Amino acid sequence: MRVLIVEDETKIADLISDVLEAEGFIPERAEDGEKGWYLGSTENYAAAILDIGLPKLDGLSVLRNWRAEGLDMPVILLTAKSNWNEKVEGIDAGADDYLGKPFQMEELVARLRALLRRTASQKSTILEVGTLKLDLRQMRVSVDGRPLKVTPLEYRLLSYLLHNRGAVISQETLAENIYYRDQEPDSNAVEVLVGRLRRKIGGNFIETRRGFGYLIAEDAT
Ligand code: CA
Repeated sequence: MRVLIVEDETKIADLISDVLEAEGFIPERAEDGEKGWYLGSTENYAAAILDIGLPKLDGLSVLRNWRAEGLDMPVILLTAKSNWNEKVEGIDAGADDYLGKPFQMEELVARLRALLRRTASQKSTILEVGTLKLDLRQMRVSVDGRPLKVTPLEYRLLSYLLHNRGAVISQETLAENIYYRDQEPDSNAVEVLVGRLRRKIGGNFIETRRGFGYLIAEDAT
């Protein structure tokens, strides 16, 4: 899952990127508000982490622009801790959550996970379909209680399909959400990856819809 980080302070952006990467997300960065607005409007992200104080265009304006464009991507706003005014404005502008600086990276990750769960209307940190389980906190996959060894790429693929279960996801969308931007995959890479993952998890969890993409149905077994 790709997450957009709009933050001009390189140190903080680095920390956030690292921690998100370690949690299996694909972080992408913008250092100013204009670029952040552009990326958020034109690319497909699971969520955005948006700083308020940004060069070129401030975070609140970025958020208002996104919402005015009808973009409902979940957004966590980074505010100055003491500034309640910013928080109120942020919520009015359409933020889903906010975090006062300085904050603990663990808290950011926990809030991001909670937000993604809410979006997927899922209450637990475990995504489950039939006997297949994916534990978002421990980053583990199991079938019938039996733990499976999966690569980070396979994990990202499974996590994306499970977050979007019940929906057919095209190969392009999958590739966009599981590969890093500098890792251009081959045209059949997703197909190969799905095949490999299918053999590992067994059953008919991942369905192919020829010409459309892949699907994990709500009642898959
Ligand atoms: Ca800033």
